[in-house]
Amino acid sequence: MRIPFDNSFAALPETFYTRVDPTSITAPNLLAWNDNLANELGVEGADKAQVFSGNEIPQGAAPLAQLYAGHQFGNYNQQLGDGRAILLGEVIDNNDLRRDVQLKGSGRTPYSRGGDGRAWLGPVLREYVVSEAMHALGIPTTRALAAVATGEDILRETGMLPGAVLTRVASSHLRVGTFQVFAHRGQIDDLRTLTDYAIARHYPNADGAMGLLKAVCAQQADLVAAWMSVGFIHGVMNTDNCSIAGETIDYGPCAFMDDFHMGRVFSSIDQQGRYAYGNQPNIAVWNMAQLATALIQLAEDKDAAVEEATAIIHAMPAQLEAAWLARFAAKLGIAIPHPDDAELIQRLLDLMQTDGADFTNTFRALGTGAARDQFTDRDAFDTWHSDFTARVADLPDAAALRAKSNPAVIPRNHRIEQMITAATAGDMAPFNRLMTAYADPYTLHDAELATPPTPSEVVPATFCGT
Ligand code: AMP
Ligand code: MG
Repeated sequence: MRIPFDNSFAALPETFYTRVDPTSITAPNLLAWNDNLANELGVEGADKAQVFSGNEIPQGAAPLAQLYAGHQFGNYNQQLGDGRAILLGEVIDNNDLRRDVQLKGSGRTPYSRGGDGRAWLGPVLREYVVSEAMHALGIPTTRALAAVATGEDILRETGMLPGAVLTRVASSHLRVGTFQVFAHRGQIDDLRTLTDYAIARHYPNADGAMGLLKAVCAQQADLVAAWMSVGFIHGVMNTDNCSIAGETIDYGPCAFMDDFHMGRVFSSIDQQGRYAYGNQPNIAVWNMAQLATALIQLAEDKDAAVEEATAIIHAMPAQLEAAWLARFAAKLGIAIPHPDDAELIQRLLDLMQTDGADFTNTFRALGTGAARDQFTDRDAFDTWHSDFTARVADLPDAAALRAKSNPAVIPRNHRIEQMITAATAGDMAPFNRLMTAYADPYTLHDAELATPPTPSEVVPATFCGT
């Protein structure tokens, strides 16, 4: 196996991580392999199952578990860290971008706390499918390079389940929590080193810590607006799952919505709806306020830094609104939105919520008249539709813009659950079917996958037993 490693994180101070090797397993079996991504990264060779299960350490790797902390559901946890993930190293891809190659589910580390360091097949394949679908939708995300079954069962709430290892590729695994851990411990030199590293790696034009904050806020605003535009609910927007690079990271109890509701929650542990669909913009701002709090520690003049950081955070809701408007206006076919378009969009969403209209299929059918079928109050929809028609009447490219802004297929939760059930029984055909359809989501190749769940297929919650 040849992986052209070029490691930079491993050269940072030892306070940033612990060097640790993956734990070997008995019977690795390659379940999924991402050829396109492997080519981008320059990864080639046999022995994929051995290397991407953690059984063999490839040449040039510098395996380590990263330290971080984070707010989980609003409560600060002073030490998290990679409890079941091991960074093998970085490669420079064929676009000259530095990417992390990380094993997830590869055994215990010093940060495992009570956990077994493992992952079961279901969440591994969910992350594989959903992150690759997210990428095909054009939304920044970590990627999936490989999934390997370990041949070993692990214990979860529901009993013994087959173990697996995911190879995750990310622009980096720096999180808000990576900054928080040093700020809270008063390790200011480490915080400064981290800040310089993050700027050099992700935002070379950013001017100092406040420049970094501004850049991350802009990325997060775009990211959350993009999620909203495809009905995605991350599910666990803790600060340790909030990427400095602005990628979607950590696909736990995540899901795409079927019938629209602003308050939709999928995570069974999110009793308060903190991470509900419609609350995601607020949480993005909250998370950025935590990053700001950490970065302020670097300033000599704290009062001035607080003032500057506060202004950056206060600017974020307007950024989110602008990004949201741009994304949803495009879904209507409007390339250059007016402020008034927000009301037109909101009226549609309100009707969709009242009538339980399918989010994806309603938008996809807007131009065709079939969207009407999604509504029980047809009169209300017709009134909205005539206003919509009037608004887009003079826009020559509206239909083309709608077609590329409204996916035909998204990874519906019931399809993901069916895929996991099949894979657990050894049948990878549904996985392959989903991967094929979601690779080109703006074209309808497989009409069955565009259908919402029947009442008996609805998946009410995604459990956290990952
Ligand atoms: P997550 O909810 O997946 O973002 O994980 C939160 C924290 O729990 C991270 O520090 C993980 O590394 C850790 N963690 C989650 N599952 C396990 C596990 N099975 N073994 C060890 N650590 C885990
Ligand atoms: Mg996490």
